[in-house]
Amino acid sequence: MGRTSKDKRDTYYRQAKEEGWRARSAFKLLQIDEEFKIFEGVEKVVDLCAAPGSWSQVLSKKLRSNKENKDIKIVAVDLQPMAPLPGVIQIQGDITEISTVQRILSEFKNDLVELVVFDGAPDVTGIHDLDEFVQSQLLLAAMNITTYLLKKGGTFVGKIFRGSDNSLLKSQLQLFFEYVIITKPRSSRNSSAESFVVCKNFALPDGYQLNLINPLLHNTNFDWNSLDGINRFVVPFMCCGDLSAFDSDKGDALKSIDNINEVVKPMEPPYAESRTLVTKPGEFVIQRHEKSDNTINTDEVK
Ligand code: SAM
Repeated sequence: MGRTSKDKRDTYYRQAKEEGWRARSAFKLLQIDEEFKIFEGVEKVVDLCAAPGSWSQVLSKKLRSNKENKDIKIVAVDLQPMAPLPGVIQIQGDITEISTVQRILSEFKNDLVELVVFDGAPDVTGIHDLDEFVQSQLLLAAMNITTYLLKKGGTFVGKIFRGSDNSLLKSQLQLFFEYVIITKPRSSRNSSAESFVVCKNFALPDGYQLNLINPLLHNTNFDWNSLDGINRFVVPFMCCGDLSAFDSDKGDALKSIDNINEVVKPMEPPYAESRTLVTKPGEFVIQRHEKSDNTINTDEVK
């Protein structure tokens, strides 16, 4: 029997290690492109929330494979630092801040881009409703920054979690894109609530004022509850990726890979700063802090 989704080392995880992708998420972007051809005609692209960088790797490999096209520019943004990648300019910053917009635009010499991809995720609390809300706010933040960056006619791909406020989100996206579809790549685990919006043919609505402070349509008095009848559009859902490909909830297809090594080490993992060791259970705890100069402090705590 194959491994279940509880085992993180599923088939795509193993395949990612074998092929040198930094994360199994690479397959999600590859499968979305197979279905929706999002890379066609793209020279300038922004990867929002990019660390550790598997989507940037895909962008770098796919867009830069055509050696004749020397005008490819890829900018990757994340709160976390990311190990370097060929042809990828990195910005360490917060996608909700205007200074990040300015830094991205200056990399493109104020040109707008044809594609923005977003695979961001906040720290998960395990409280589903809260996680879903924070994820949808992060998607709105990604859409907000995208309104500053995307060319007319451009494409946006972003991660969402299935949930009750999705129809509002989709309606908002439809004001900016002619074509909005929700998809779940084959490599996205069935057990995960994640799916992706693929939005094509971007145009700012008439009179829309760019603003990063509040989500999207802060500057209209639009009553979303008034959407009814033909206006209450149901966004189509499509599966993508070869349906005969590996099942992302099974882990036994690539048994041959015995030795799985990290493709890149985490740059600044939170656990590097502080580790807690229990020496004698019930008696005391030693907190061990590793400093950047490799010395170690130990404090006894009752
Ligand atoms: N697409 C990446 C890849 O393929 O390797 C994986 C992205 S990971 C699932 C989510 C990332 O979102 C994290 O690296 C996190 O730092 C980033 N993130 C979350 N909130 C952010 C914010 N406000 N600004 C920038 N990055 C953010």
